[in-house]
Amino acid sequence: MTVSAFYKQNHWVTRFAPSPTGPLHLGHIAAAFFARRHADHGGRFLLRIEDIDTARCREVFIQDALDDLTWTGLRWEKAVLRQSARLPLYRATLDALRRQGLVYPCFCTRTDVAREAAAAFSAPHHTPDGSLLYPGTCRRLADAERAERIAAGDPYALRLDVRKALDRLGNPPLTYQDLDHGAVACFPDLFGDVVLARKDTPASYHLCVTHDDAAQGVSLVTRGEELRDVTAIHRLLQELMKWPEPVYAFHPLLMDPDGKKLSKRDGALSIRTMREAGLSPAEVRRAAGIIL
Ligand code: GLU
Repeated sequence: MTVSAFYKQNHWVTRFAPSPTGPLHLGHIAAAFFARRHADHGGRFLLRIEDIDTARCREVFIQDALDDLTWTGLRWEKAVLRQSARLPLYRATLDALRRQGLVYPCFCTRTDVAREAAAAFSAPHHTPDGSLLYPGTCRRLADAERAERIAAGDPYALRLDVRKALDRLGNPPLTYQDLDHGAVACFPDLFGDVVLARKDTPASYHLCVTHDDAAQGVSLVTRGEELRDVTAIHRLLQELMKWPEPVYAFHPLLMDPDGKKLSKRDGALSIRTMREAGLSPAEVRRAAGIIL
């Protein structure tokens, strides 16, 4: 079977889901077209704005992103979903997990986590994405103490009790389907009890992205290689919530000439700057490695 026959057969529903925390750069354009390309043959391509982190997201970045994407020649289905308008839906998911006893309040600050982790492990343990492994301090709090601290107004995050969640599912061997490599084994417990909500961000990236991919019927999730490992957490959430399991395709990250990851902070590489310097959409697409 040819690659295009394979895509055609699957009619993938894909999406590009930027977080409007800065101007778009070449890496975003590459990611957006990577997603669109997989939906080319009879599929659907959606755009979703992941703007739950109100401290970092700005309206101007959303408008500029839509404008830059249109300018580069990208087209998507008209209805653009914005996560900031969907908080009650994420809350309902959190409540469903809470009712199953799989979520607990965590009152630890970052300093507490660092101190507790140092005391709990002989050497610092890290999760696959590089954060400090949470040693489970608040998982062991008594119900009465939790209630007391909540009543006293202590700020808290909500964490998923990953061990209990896996037990509840009967400890199945978890895998995800990689479009290029087939089934890949994954181990959510390597991440410890992940945060699903914080006081300042009422639902975490993991919860919202997995929720919305399921709600929008995204059948092929595309994202950068740097996010491959967290698929384990997403697969666990999908199993717990009985959401459908999508296929995954990962693209390499674009690097700058010094081999550094492109970042929104590098304003010089923004699409806006390239447009103002007189580059054409075709030149920008070419710079992002896109051949239409
Ligand atoms: N909103 C995420 C970001 O801009 C990407 C969404 C995803 O993980 O697929 O990094």
